[in-house]
Amino acid sequence: MVFDIQIIGGGLAGSEAAWQLAEAGLRVRLSEMRGGGDMTPAHESDRLAEMVCSNSFRSDDAENNAVGLLHQEMRCLGSLIMRAADLHRVPAGSALAVDREAFATEVTQAVESHPNILVVRERVDALPDHPTIIATGPLTGSALAEAIAAETGEGALAFFDAIAPIVHRDSIDMDVCWMAARWDKGGKDYINCPLDKQQYDDFVAALNGGEKTEFKEWEKDTPYFEGCMPIEVMAERGVETLRYGPMKGVGLDNPRTGRWPYAVVQLRQDNTLGTLWNMVGFQTKLKHGEQVRIFRTIPGLENAEFARLGGIHRNSFINSPRLLDNELRLKSKPNIRFAGQITGCEGYVESAAVGILAARFAAVEARGEVIPPPPVETALGALLSHITGGANAETFQPMNVNFGLMPPLTGPKAKKGDRKKLYTTRARAAFGDWLAVKAVEPA
Ligand SMILES: Cc1cc2nc3c(=O)[nH]c(=O)nc-3n(C[C@H](O)[C@H](O)[C@H](O)COP(=O)(O)OP(=O)(O)OC[C@H]3O[C@@H](n4cnc5c(N)ncnc54)[C@H](O)[C@@H]3O)c2cc1C
Repeated sequence: MVFDIQIIGGGLAGSEAAWQLAEAGLRVRLSEMRGGGDMTPAHESDRLAEMVCSNSFRSDDAENNAVGLLHQEMRCLGSLIMRAADLHRVPAGSALAVDREAFATEVTQAVESHPNILVVRERVDALPDHPTIIATGPLTGSALAEAIAAETGEGALAFFDAIAPIVHRDSIDMDVCWMAARWDKGGKDYINCPLDKQQYDDFVAALNGGEKTEFKEWEKDTPYFEGCMPIEVMAERGVETLRYGPMKGVGLDNPRTGRWPYAVVQLRQDNTLGTLWNMVGFQTKLKHGEQVRIFRTIPGLENAEFARLGGIHRNSFINSPRLLDNELRLKSKPNIRFAGQITGCEGYVESAAVGILAARFAAVEARGEVIPPPPVETALGALLSHITGGANAETFQPMNVNFGLMPPLTGPKAKKGDRKKLYTTRARAAFGDWLAVKAVEPA
C-alpha cells in the first residue's frame, strides 16, 4: 500500500494516531516491532495498545478531575482508545479501569481492519525522510533512540517506572478481606486486605530488608517518576510513608471490626471475568522470589498466586520543550513528529491524547492547511503547551495532566471546593470554541 504517513510504534499513542489519520482519509503505514521478532522489556504480547502496568485510566470525573476532563475531550475527538476503554470497562469506583486483554484486542482489531491502515510488524532503526510520527514510547528500540540522539544532538532523558503485581482472585482469602470502595464512593469495587499495627510494622521491615534489583552504575542517578514510586522506596523514606500513601486505611470500614484498619492493601479488578486483581500502588523492584515471600505476609494473601510479578524499567523521553515546535514537529527535521510518552507526557491517557494531537496536526498539514493548537485552558491544550514550551527545558520531567498546567482562574477568589468545577467549566467552553475553528491555508 502506498502511504501518506508512517507511524512508528503501535502502543497507546501510535494506535490512536493511526486511527485518527485513517479516519481523516490518510493512508497510514503503522510499524510495530512486536510481532516481528522484537519485544520490549515490559510488554507481554503482540497486541497493539498493550497496557504494561496498571489497568486504570484513572478518574473518569470530567467535572472535578483533569484526567477525567481529558477523557471527555478525547471522546469528543472520536478517540479509539477511549471507545475501547468504555467498551471494556471493569468496576473501579469512579475510576475508568479496563480488562487489559479485551481492550488491547479491541484496538488491534479496529486498527488492523481499517482500510486506510497497513500494520507492518517491523522494527525501524533510522529516522525516515517522509512524513512520520514517532510513537515508540518509553522503551524505544535502542538503534532508533541513537538515531534520535544523533539528529537532536542530545541523548534521551530518563526516569524509572515500576510495575505492580497481579493476583489470581481465587487465591485471595475473602474470610479476611472484604469488598469496599474508600468512603463508599462508587460500588464496592476493591478487595481490601487489613493490617494491624504489628503486621504493618513487620511488613515495612520486610520491605526494607528485602532483596532488590540492583541498578547498573550508569542508572544510579536516574530519578523515579513520583506518581509511580516503588513501595520499598516509599518504605525507606519512613515507617509511616506507606500508611499515608497506597496503604492508607482511612474511609474503609472493616465489616468485621466496624473500624478503619491501621493499614490496608487494596486490589482492583483487572479483567472482565474478575479472575485477576491488580495490587493498587504496589509497584516494586523487589526480586521476584522476595515479592512472593513478603506479599504473602499480607493478611488475606497468605496463599496468593501471582499472575504477574512487579518489575522496574528505565523509561526514556526527549527534551520536548527544546526539540519540538508547538505542533509536535522536530524543529531540526520537521517531517518528523513525536507522540506519546516519548514526548515527556506521562500515562496511558496522556500518551493517547498526544497521539490524537500529532495526528490532527499531521492531517491538516497533509492538506496544506494549518489549525491553531487547542487553547491552554483545555486539558489537551494544557498538556501540549507544557510539553512544547511551557515546561522548563533544564528541569523537564514527565507530567500527568493536572489543573496546574492551566492558567490560573481569574475573577473573584472561589472557595477551594468550587475551583475544580470552575477549571472544567472554563475548559469546556474553550474546547467548544476550538472545535468550531476550521483549518485554513497558512498565511
Ligand atoms: C514499567 C512501566 C510501567 C508503567 N506503568 C504505567 C501505569 O501504571 N499507568 C500508566 O498510565 N502508564 C504507565 N506507564 C507508562 C506507559 O508506558 C505509557 O503510559 C504508555 O504505554 C505510553 O504509550 P506510548 O504509546 O507512548 O508507548 P507504548 O505504549 O510503550 O508503545 C510504544 C510502542 O512502540 C514499539 N516500538 C518501540 N521501538 C520501536 C521501533 N524502533 N520500531 C518499531 N516499534 C517500536 C513498542 O513495541 C511499543 O509497542 C508505564 C511504563 C512503563 C515502562
